[in-house]
Amino acid sequence: MYFPLEYDEPVFRPPSEAYSLILQLTLGCSWNRCAFCEMYSSKKFKVRKEEDIIKEIKEVASISTDIKKVFLADGNAMVLSTAKLLRIINEINKAFPRVTRISAYALPKDINSKTDDELKQLSEAGLKLLYVGVESGDDELLKLINKGETFNSTVDGLQKARKAGIKLSVMILNGLGGKNYSAQHAENSAKAINLIQPEFLSTLVLSFPYGEDHFKKRFKGDFKALSTLELIEEMKIFIENLELENSVFRSDHASNYLVLKGNLNRDKQKFLDNINSVLQSPENALLRPEWARGL
Ligand code: SF4
Repeated sequence: MYFPLEYDEPVFRPPSEAYSLILQLTLGCSWNRCAFCEMYSSKKFKVRKEEDIIKEIKEVASISTDIKKVFLADGNAMVLSTAKLLRIINEINKAFPRVTRISAYALPKDINSKTDDELKQLSEAGLKLLYVGVESGDDELLKLINKGETFNSTVDGLQKARKAGIKLSVMILNGLGGKNYSAQHAENSAKAINLIQPEFLSTLVLSFPYGEDHFKKRFKGDFKALSTLELIEEMKIFIENLELENSVFRSDHASNYLVLKGNLNRDKQKFLDNINSVLQSPENALLRPEWARGL
């Protein structure tokens, strides 16, 4: 089937954007320095020309105007100026009148660089959801992984987006600090999430696409990887400390050993009971084996 867009690979999108039109506004990630992340290590960050993006929107619309969701790629299209984002979003709305949701990955610094009014304009134009890799709420760990964010910058940015009416899907990285930072990572991540109150929360498990030694070289501290049960113990501390009003929670990414799905705080006790039974009798636990996790 003919499709008019030629993507600059690799292209990443959240699982929930599987049926969205993916438009690359930028290539790579403008930060590209997090110790655990290899997503865009093969790409040099680049802002694509607006005329090329608008041409692509028109080409897709010439085939079908029946697009309901659009995801703005790559790593942080939100780094673009508000004026440019608004022009592109307006073109999307014109080309696809049935569009209901425009979304993108974002870094807290991208959000913080915009005023409340600018965020409101983006939200009203159709930017309805931002996906943010918070990774951790622990300042010491955020420094060790070179995230370029702090507890405060993360909470401030994400609260600002929510205030503007933009929904948030945030991710915490289980095991990120290894044994030395596990408890503080879990506790401070929960503190940050409680202040943000995201609509969607998920946890992924730290993995080592280029091997553990490669990660250790980039981690600016003493990293000792957690065992499977220690990862689950860290999840227990994290969930115990969460106080959420109404967040959809998922730990069902391919990297997770223990799948948990539900709503927080509604299902908090159910999750903790599940975790406790795994910790008490790991031999009877339903954990995903390595081969099933594809790692
Ligand atoms: S900001 Fe996100 S995409 Fe960029 S390097 Fe860090 S984790 Fe990867």
